Amino acid sequence: MKVRAQIAMVLNLDKCIGCHTCSITCKNVWTNREGVEYAWFNNVETKPGIGYPKDWENQERWKGGWVRGKNGSIQPKQGGKWRILSKIFANPHLPEIDDFYEPYTFEYEWLQSAPELQAQPTARPRSLLTGEKLNKIENSGNWEDMLGGEFEKRSHDYNFEGVEKEIYGQFEKTFMMYLPRLCEHCLNPACLASCPSGAIYKRAEDGIVLIDQEKCRGWRMCVSGCPYKKIYYNWSTGKSEKCIFCYPRIETGQPTVCSETCVGRIRYLGVVLYDADRIEEAASVEDPAHLYQAQLGLFLDPHDVAVQEAARREGVPEQWLEAAIRSPVYKMAVEWKVAFPLHPEYRTLPMVWYVPPLSPIQSAAEAGKISSKDGMPDVRSLRIPLRYLANLLTAGDEAPIAAALERMLAMRAFMRAKSIERRIDEAIPARVGLSRA
Ligand code: SF4
Ligand code: SF4
Repeated sequence: MKVRAQIAMVLNLDKCIGCHTCSITCKNVWTNREGVEYAWFNNVETKPGIGYPKDWENQERWKGGWVRGKNGSIQPKQGGKWRILSKIFANPHLPEIDDFYEPYTFEYEWLQSAPELQAQPTARPRSLLTGEKLNKIENSGNWEDMLGGEFEKRSHDYNFEGVEKEIYGQFEKTFMMYLPRLCEHCLNPACLASCPSGAIYKRAEDGIVLIDQEKCRGWRMCVSGCPYKKIYYNWSTGKSEKCIFCYPRIETGQPTVCSETCVGRIRYLGVVLYDADRIEEAASVEDPAHLYQAQLGLFLDPHDVAVQEAARREGVPEQWLEAAIRSPVYKMAVEWKVAFPLHPEYRTLPMVWYVPPLSPIQSAAEAGKISSKDGMPDVRSLRIPLRYLANLLTAGDEAPIAAALERMLAMRAFMRAKSIERRIDEAIPARVGLSRA
C-alpha cells in the first residue's frame, strides 16, 4: 500500500446560485494578465448546455482522456503516436478562440464623460484582443447565460443520452442547473501523460497538478489531452497555464480563492488518503459505469490505525493526517456517499467532486409534483432527470445518484421537522441508512 495525500474539493450543486463570483475573484487573482484574457481557471456553466469551451464534453472531437490499449492497459489518447507527430505537425485537436469567446470590456468612461443626452449613454463592448468596438456580444464565458446556446445546441448536450426524448420538447419539463468547473487535479492526469516536454507534474505532498513554466515548450498536447479542457494556452508567453489550486494559499493554511469568496458557500475543501499502488487498476475497470465505485475504492479510511501508520512511513505529514481525519470531502464522498466525480468515464480519476442538485424542490413539493414511495419522496419525480445526473457524475449508473438524492431529501425532512416543528424524527435518517451522528 502506497499512501498518498490529496487535497480535494466537493461542490454542493444544490446551493450554487450561478452568481459567477468564484470565476471573477479567481480571474482577478490569477489570470488578469495579457495572453490569458479568455482563460477562466474557474468557470460556471449552465446545464443543460454545451459548456466552455464549446462542446468540451465531446471526447471524440478533442481526443482527450484515456483509452484502453491492445494489451489491456490504458493509454492517453494524446500519448504514443501523437507525442511523436506533435513534433512534426501542429496539434490538430485544439479548441480555437471561437470555441472559447472573444474577451471584451465595456467603454465605461463613456458612462461618466458623455454630454447630457435625452437617452442614457451606452457603454459599448470593445474587444480586449483587437480594441475594436463590437456591435454586440456574440457569446461569453457562459454561452447559455448569454443565450448563445439556442435550443438545438442544447439538445447536443452529451448528458442527455438515455434521457426520455420528450424532455427536450415540453416547456414544463425543462430544467437547469449550474456547474462550476475547475481543474480536477486528477489522480491519473491525462494532461501530464500527454506532455512531450515533461513539464507537467503532480506534487507528491498534496496532489496539486502544475505546469513548470520553464520546461513548457507550448506543444499544447495537454490542451487537447485534458478531457475537461482545463488548460489554457497563453498567447503572450507561448506557454500553457492551468488552475494551481491556489497552492500559495493552501501552503499557508488558507482556502482557495473560489472557496473563500463563494456566495452560496457550496465549496468544501479537504484532504483524502488514497492507495497510489491501485491507480492503474482503478482507471482500467472495464465497464465505465463501474469507474465511480472503483475510484471510491481507492480512498483509505483515515481513522484506520494501519492506514495512519502506513501514511507516516510514506512521509505524510502529521497535520495532513489530522486534516484527512476531519475531512468533509471524505465524509461526503465515502461515508455519506452524496458526492460524485465529474465524468469518471474519462478515466483520469478526478478529485473535484459534486453533490447532485435536488432542483427547485420547495415549489415542486408545494405543487404536489413530487410523488412519494415507501413514505419517502420518489427521486424519480424530481425535475432534473436522474439519468441526466448519472451521465454527468457516474457514467450512467443511476443507483448511487438515487441513493444520494434520497439521503439529501431525508436530511432536509429531518432538519425541517427539527427547526420548524421542534421535533426530532429518529426514523427519517434510519430509513436511508444514516445515523443521526
Ligand atoms: Fe490535467 Fe486538470 Fe485536466 Fe485533470 S482536469 S487532466 S489534472 S488539466
Ligand atoms: Fe456558485 Fe459559489 Fe460560484 Fe456563486 S460563487 S457561482 S454560488 S460556486
